[in-house]
Amino acid sequence: LAKREGRNTMRLFSLRMQQQVQETLAIARDLRWAVERRQLVLHYQPQVDALTHRLVGVEALVRWQHPQWGLVSPARFIPIAEDTGLIQEIGTWVLHEALRQNGAWQAAGLPIVPMAVNLSVAQFRHPLLHGTLAEALRHSGQPAHMLELELTESVAMEDSDFTVTTIAGLKQLGVSLSIDDFGTGYSSLSYLKRFKVDKLKIDQSFVRGLNRDPQDEAIVDTVISLARSLGLRTIAEGVETSDQLQFLQQHGCDEIQGYLFSRPVPADAFPELLRSLSGIDRVTTMAPHPVSC
Ligand code: C2E
Ligand code: MG
Ligand code: MG
Ligand code: MG
Repeated sequence: LAKREGRNTMRLFSLRMQQQVQETLAIARDLRWAVERRQLVLHYQPQVDALTHRLVGVEALVRWQHPQWGLVSPARFIPIAEDTGLIQEIGTWVLHEALRQNGAWQAAGLPIVPMAVNLSVAQFRHPLLHGTLAEALRHSGQPAHMLELELTESVAMEDSDFTVTTIAGLKQLGVSLSIDDFGTGYSSLSYLKRFKVDKLKIDQSFVRGLNRDPQDEAIVDTVISLARSLGLRTIAEGVETSDQLQFLQQHGCDEIQGYLFSRPVPADAFPELLRSLSGIDRVTTMAPHPVSC
C-alpha cells in the first residue's frame, strides 16, 4: 500500500511539474505580444511619511491583463520576461507609462512626488540603459529627480567596474536609487559606501515579524540605524498593521508602504485614494513619545 501511495504521489508530483512547465511556456508565448497588444497595466501604491502619513512617493507595479487568464501577477511573469529577454521591452514600457502617468497627475493638481520604478538585473546590465532612461525622461518632460529606480541587492552587490560606472551614470542623470528588498541579498555592505544610493527598502519579510519575532525586530532596527549613520533614507514595505507602523515610527523609519495605507490600485483609482488617505486619522497609532535623535 505504501508503495502504491508513493507511486501515486510521484505521479501527482510530476503531473503538477508538467502543468507548471506548460504554463510557463504558455506565458512566454503570449508575453511576447503583451506590450504590443496593450495588455500590460500599471498599478500604483502610495508611499507615505511615517509620522505625518502624507504622500511622499508612488511605486509603479506592473500587471498583465491576459484575455483568458485575467490579471497575472508580476511574480509570475517578470522572471519569465527576464529569462526570455522580453524584460527590456516591458521595462521600457513601464518607464514611459509610469512617467507619463506622474506627469498627468501633476497636471491634474495632485501632490508632486517621485515615481518609483523597479529595475531588473537584466535591464541594469543592458548597455543602452542610460540612453533608455534619458529618452524616457525627455519624452515625459519629467525632471530626473522625479524618477526613483528600485534595484535589488543582487544588482548593486556585484562588485565590478561595470556596476560602478553604471551606477555613477545613473546618478549623473539625476535619478534617485533605492535598494529594494534590502536585507535579503548578500551580506557585504561595502557597496553602500561605494555606490551612492539614496534609500533602503526594508524587505517585507522582516516587517512581518515586527512585534512577534525579536530577530526581525533586531534586523529592522539595525537597518534603520545603519541607514541613518550613512545618511540614507529608509522605507518599510509590506506594512499591514498599526502595530508594525508603531514599531517603525518609534525606531525612526522614514517612510511606509503597505496595505495598512493602501494596496496598489489602478491609475484611475489613485486620486480618490489620496482623498481618502488624507481623511484617515491615524494619530492614535502614533508613537506615544516622540522619536529621539
Ligand atoms: P517589490 O518591488 O518588492 O514590490 C512589493 C510587492 O509587495 C508588490 O507585489 C506589492 O503589491 C506587495 N505589497 C505591497 N504592500 C504589501 C503589504 O502590505 N502586504 C503584502 N503581503 N504585500 C504587499 P507585486 O505587485 O505582486 O510585485 C511583486 C514583485 O514583482 C515586485 O516586488 C517586483 O520585484 C516585481 N515587479 C513588479 N513590477 C515590476 C516592474 O515594472 N518591473 C520589474 N522589473 N519588476 C517588477
Ligand atoms: Mg519595488
Ligand atoms: Mg520590495
Ligand atoms: Mg519584494
